[in-house]
Amino acid sequence: MKLPEGFGENVFNDSVQKETLPSEVYKALRATIESGKQLDTSIAGTVASAMKKWAVSKGATHYTHWFQPLTGLTAEKHDSFIEPEGDKAIMRLTGKSLIVGEPDASSFPSGGSRATYMARGYTAWDPTSPAFVKEGTLYIPTVFVSYTGETLDKKSPLLRSMKAIDKQAKRILKCFNINCKKVSCQAGPEQEYFLISEEEYLKRKDLQLCGRTLFGAPVTRGQELEDHYFGVLKTTVADYMRDLDEELWSYGIYSKTKHNEVAPAQHEMAPIYSTTNIAVDTNMLTMELMKKVAKRHGLVCLLHEKPFRGINGSGKHNNWSISTDTGLNLLNPGDAPESNTLFKLVLTAVIKAVDDYQGVLRASVASAGNDHRLGADEAPPAIISVYLGDQLGALVDSIVKGENYVTGAKAQGSIGVPESPIFPKDATDRNRTSPFAFTGNKFEFRMLGSQANVADANISLNTIVADAFEQFADELEGKKDVEKAAEAIIKRELKAHYRIIFNHDGYGPEWEPEAAKRGLLNNKNTADAAPVLYEDKNVEVFVKQGVFTKAEAIARADIRLENYTKIINIEALTMVEMAKRDIIPAVSDFIADLCQNVAAKQAVCESIPFETEKKLITRLSELNDTASAAVEKLEKDLKEVNRADVKAASQAMAHKVIPDMEEVRKAVDEMETLTSSDFWPYPTYFDILYSVK
Ligand code: ADP
Ligand code: MG
Repeated sequence: MKLPEGFGENVFNDSVQKETLPSEVYKALRATIESGKQLDTSIAGTVASAMKKWAVSKGATHYTHWFQPLTGLTAEKHDSFIEPEGDKAIMRLTGKSLIVGEPDASSFPSGGSRATYMARGYTAWDPTSPAFVKEGTLYIPTVFVSYTGETLDKKSPLLRSMKAIDKQAKRILKCFNINCKKVSCQAGPEQEYFLISEEEYLKRKDLQLCGRTLFGAPVTRGQELEDHYFGVLKTTVADYMRDLDEELWSYGIYSKTKHNEVAPAQHEMAPIYSTTNIAVDTNMLTMELMKKVAKRHGLVCLLHEKPFRGINGSGKHNNWSISTDTGLNLLNPGDAPESNTLFKLVLTAVIKAVDDYQGVLRASVASAGNDHRLGADEAPPAIISVYLGDQLGALVDSIVKGENYVTGAKAQGSIGVPESPIFPKDATDRNRTSPFAFTGNKFEFRMLGSQANVADANISLNTIVADAFEQFADELEGKKDVEKAAEAIIKRELKAHYRIIFNHDGYGPEWEPEAAKRGLLNNKNTADAAPVLYEDKNVEVFVKQGVFTKAEAIARADIRLENYTKIINIEALTMVEMAKRDIIPAVSDFIADLCQNVAAKQAVCESIPFETEKKLITRLSELNDTASAAVEKLEKDLKEVNRADVKAASQAMAHKVIPDMEEVRKAVDEMETLTSSDFWPYPTYFDILYSVK
């Protein structure tokens, strides 16, 4: 790829639009994109035809409406541009086909919000996210709604939440005499992943069916030497990353940084941030491309949150900020945050929102995969708290305690270069243990799982912060002395929500009991975390901000629990299959082999010692029995799960099935360490984690 020319070559972006559309149409389309105004349908035909012509010139023969159903993945159904004309064919994309599509919605999860007999779902073009050509198809980003107007995807509520924050933030800004056309939120999702060799991957049913290993004794060299993080890239990995970058750049994705992560075989890619809906779309595309490009290199990219036990799992830090179309970042503290009332008010709104809706934020990142990471000393705990760093922490303390703020915290030379004027101290240091940390001019929500659609977290963040803005705006509007009124709100609300601020080590043992004392939620797994979404208060905030109807909110909570239950079910069944058909028989064979050895020794001479074999035979026989019994219990408990009731089913999965699986694994992992590698049916952690050269 030639840079910078090749950047965005597959995207129908602003400059291509400008080039290919008549200027009136271009202006109308830009107005729609920038202000979120309804598209003038009379121009759709012209846009469609230009888009088609451009796509065909890029080799496209098909188009698809690309959407994000509640499966958490993306969906696409391809139609060709071909239409008959006489006995010839022409390539056509009509305005109508650009704007609406009608995929059969009946097989997508709807959480009961759409009865199957009303299978009609519509996809509608989202012009705010650019179309692109991939593998011979024009991809048109769309929202997905039902015949009755209920949202069936992750994109439409995201757009609604962006509208909500735009509306409420502008009210606040107006009180401070700041005018702008639009306020939007930005997200920069840092994506972690594992790369392993395809050859080893294909030998493990668990990796193929569940995306993670269900068994595996710890590897003798994990991450304890701390030598992988930022280490030199292996050649295969470097080739992969270069290829991935070029692929991402061709789709207009600003892939910026890449490096090795903490665990062996673990890596990270961070893009430059963009408006939340574009960040969501490009992150979905990024995850897809990460997997596809891996195949070309004989690799498999694992996006699961915890592919391997005993070493770090993967997350996705969601860097989030709010800014105006005039370039004002509302989370930028400036040089003197203590006298920046607007900044303090916005900060207070975020703190209040996070405290009031801890449960919502926690639930927005809850998934079977992510349950393995949160609170496991490699990722933030399951408790939501806000980290502000020294400077802002001191500022908030002084406000809450009514003390004078001393600006001394702004000392320079933070990286050990004494008083160096070129290294000004950051407003925050790098606390990695906080789930929600202020990092200079943005918040970093660090609890997201690596395979999550980041829409969920951003929908929640936008909505709850919009709600806090609304309450503040209601109070401020019409006040003569806005500064004074705002300072009063700041003081009152920071006092009320002070408990959510935690500026210390979130991995430390002191935090859990301290958080309990403060009355903060600590929901450790999805089955316990997601049900808060049914609580009236948590439904109402989405309804009030126009993001979900009550039915949609409930449906989404149902789907989260259902999805959790289905995943645990698949994992449990896979475990049973692997144990019964591969592992237990293999161990039995090894035991038989040992017995034969003993018999052979005995046949030669009865005095030849066979203590080693005897010990192994005994221990492995015990363990194989333990494993069989544990599998039986798992199968029995799994059968008894009441699937008709989502809450009961997820509870049973979390508190019965998962502990059962733990017992199976315990016995099997010990057997792995005792069984000859000639007999063990699967590649070990060593084989997999050090498979890439
Ligand atoms: P790190 O968290 O590793 O220190 P950075 O702070 O440089 O790295 O950035 C991490 C991510 O945050 C990147 O994706 C970056 O584009 C994004 N980011 C930077 N500024 C903002 C902002 N104002 N709003 C949202 N995301 C941002
Ligand atoms: Mg980060």
